[in-house]
Order: sequence, then C-alpha cells, then structure tokens
Amino acid sequence: MRCPFCHNPDSRVIDSREADEGATTRRRRSCPQCSRRFTTVEEAVLAVVKRSGVSEPFNRSKVVAGVRRACQGRPVDEDQLQLLAQQVEDTIRATGAAEVPSNEVGLAILRPLRELDEVAYLRFASVYRAFTSVADFEKEIAELKARTAVGSVLEVAPSGGRSGR
Ligand SMILES: [Zn+2]
Repeated sequence: MRCPFCHNPDSRVIDSREADEGATTRRRRSCPQCSRRFTTVEEAVLAVVKRSGVSEPFNRSKVVAGVRRACQGRPVDEDQLQLLAQQVEDTIRATGAAEVPSNEVGLAILRPLRELDEVAYLRFASVYRAFTSVADFEKEIAELKARTAVGSVLEVAPSGGRSGR
C-alpha cells in the first residue's frame, strides 16, 4: 500500500491484528522510504444504499440506535440490542452482496425484533412500513396474535403434563 506521507508506492506490514471480534484486521505499516508508520484497516465490504442513491458502509451502531428508539420503556437490554444488530448484519452478509438497499436492512431488523418485543416491533414497523391508519396497526396486530397463538400451541405441546398438575 502507498505511503500516505511521502507517497512511496510500497510499504511494509510490521504488525497485523484482528479487531472488532475478527470483523476487521488492522495492519501497522512502515514506509521503507520515509520510515514513517501508519495503520490500515481491512474489512469485508458491505454498503447500504439509501433511497436517495447515496451509499454508506453498513453500521451496526445505526441499527442499534434505530431499534433502541423503538424499544424505549420496553424490557430490552443493551446486550439484546447488540445481539439483534449482529443477527441483522449476519443476515445481510449471508446474501453475499457487497451492496444492499436500506429497506433490506429494515426487513432484516423486523424479524428478530418481532421475536424480541412485540410492542417495539409494532413501533418499528409503523415507521418503517409507514403505517397511515389504525387499520394498518390492526392488521399487523392480527398477524402477531395469529403467530402467538401458533407459537403457544407449539410451546405447550411437547412439555405435555404441565396442565395436569
Ligand atoms: Zn513514506
């Protein structure tokens, strides 16, 4: 890599270490020409393209910030927010695309958020899907209720004798 100080076309890696739990690699480099040192960061490219067409690097803290807003006053802690953001990143990276539209990030947030907290999910969905009426909420709530009903049947069935006490 070119030296940012003297623009010598080559530099030497003197140290390399993983950061951000292995998501990035930081390399300490030295310039053979001017002897100055600099650091480079390497990470797999994942860009989010906004509706305006502007793209920016995927940012887990932005996901956390958006979801945290929807979770205000809800029993959701910081660890759960971080885990959700990680799930979102994993989902998007799994597509293998170097660029994803921002609405796909929203979609990737909705699924795990529904599992985490239904009220926060409704808040997030209402903004993200631009609910315009009470009917939009009613429809979403009806779907949530249907899911919950199915979920509780599945939960109760395998444990069997719980109701027999
Ligand atoms: Zn140099």
